[in-house]
Amino acid sequence: MPISVAIIGAGPAGFYTAEALLSQGVDARIDMIERLPSPYGLIRAGVAPDHQSTKRVAHRFAETASRDSVAFFGNVEVGREVSFEELQGLYDAVVLAVGAPRDRALGIPGEHLPGVYGSAGFVGWYNGHPDFRELGPRLDSRAAVVIGNGNVALDVARVLVKTPPEMVESDIADYAAQAIHAAPLTDVYILGRRGPGEARFTSAELRELGRLADCAPVVDPADLPAEADAGERGGISPATGEIDREKRIRDKNIAILRSFTALSKDTSRKRVHFCFHAAPIEIVGHDRAEGLRYERTRVAQGRVIRTGVFGAIACGLVVAAIGYRATRIPGLPFDADRGLIPNDDGRVAPGVYAVGWAKRGPTGIIGSNRPDGIVCARQIDADLAGTSEGRPGRAGLERLLGQRRVRSISFAEWQRLDSAEVAAGGGVAPRRKFTSLAEMLAALRG
Ligand SMILES: Cc1cc2nc3c(=O)[nH]c(=O)nc-3n(C[C@H](O)[C@H](O)[C@H](O)COP(=O)(O)OP(=O)(O)OC[C@H]3O[C@@H](n4cnc5c(N)ncnc54)[C@H](O)[C@@H]3O)c2cc1C
Repeated sequence: MPISVAIIGAGPAGFYTAEALLSQGVDARIDMIERLPSPYGLIRAGVAPDHQSTKRVAHRFAETASRDSVAFFGNVEVGREVSFEELQGLYDAVVLAVGAPRDRALGIPGEHLPGVYGSAGFVGWYNGHPDFRELGPRLDSRAAVVIGNGNVALDVARVLVKTPPEMVESDIADYAAQAIHAAPLTDVYILGRRGPGEARFTSAELRELGRLADCAPVVDPADLPAEADAGERGGISPATGEIDREKRIRDKNIAILRSFTALSKDTSRKRVHFCFHAAPIEIVGHDRAEGLRYERTRVAQGRVIRTGVFGAIACGLVVAAIGYRATRIPGLPFDADRGLIPNDDGRVAPGVYAVGWAKRGPTGIIGSNRPDGIVCARQIDADLAGTSEGRPGRAGLERLLGQRRVRSISFAEWQRLDSAEVAAGGGVAPRRKFTSLAEMLAALRG
């Protein structure tokens, strides 16, 4: 008898787990339970709307979801429509693939002022995530500060400064495109506590900021190491003789930033300023954000050292892109310090597993979640294959949802919505997203 597996969360980690269970030949019926009506997690709601090629991996996940042994239950939140304990009773194995959807707090005065947003909310807003479509961020000032030195900070800055023609082939939510393009924003400051050598940008994303239609990157040459020093730090691996990967990325990034110094006097209408060695200390303002104060830092032996020198940027919008945390699911342990579900290489409790950002915290790209799925499928196979106790699985879940009159969305229904979104893109935009459950249900009725 096949074992029944519930995967909570239909983002990359959930799909890679389903895919691994299938490819490893585990005899299982797999149900993917997702709180949103749509699948794919941050591929839809996080990855930048103008980076469509990154989203193509969703086609592969659609094939997985279309397999006979796999079912999708969209619009079913574990902890709301159905409890974790109920799923434990219904399924042989429960996989937690719930991601890390909450913003880490900045922990500085003024962070709750209107005009200050976490990147989960801000990115969710421009990507049409139903939870954030009413965010209404304040875009009525000339300057914005994006805090953080990773790719999410680059995404936010880029989406704020691109011209309408540059966004035509994106799937940005219509309301967000209208609001951003009507805003008076001319200057976006990307603020990092550390230096350019420690930034976690990937080179392709960084380079893109030097190729925008009406925006120039601004870099202070004093922030960059002297050219003679640039190649020196970092190590040559004794095993391979290769310069280590991190150093290569760092050198590439510094070379890109150096090339930006030549663009800084360009006549573009907008600018993205890189502010390194600047630790935010306060967001100032009376009834909304009016500016951000920072303290200059230096980095010594990997540690950030404050210098007692302060600066300020006048701005009405602040977006903090400093990392994410998982949410606590009632009935499950939670590591509040690390913001994830405590686990031993994915094992949470007998028959309960974690994958992806819920397992490891918010690091890595989409493909980084694939090994988690492979490990999890092996663990399920080793722990449970052939031991099915004949738990009700899918039939039990359907009964429970029926009793509670929960309107779940099947994968076939999602495919109809997907086609409608693509058609609404008119052959130019990749799609026009539905951004609420009501819109989706109306489209399904229609
Ligand atoms: C802003 C942003 C941009 C990114 N850009 C890129 C990029 O360009 N390229 C790249 O390779 N990677 C990118 N990443 C990283 C990539 O998105 C992650 O590695 C990946 O999405 C993590 O997968 P996950 O399945 O663990 O989490 P998620 O993608 O967050 O999926 C978790 C899913 O679980 C669901 N869920 C949560 N709680 C419940 C519940 N209680 N009940 C039911 N369902 C629930 C959520 O709705 C979600 O669909 C980006 C990340 C962010 C935040």
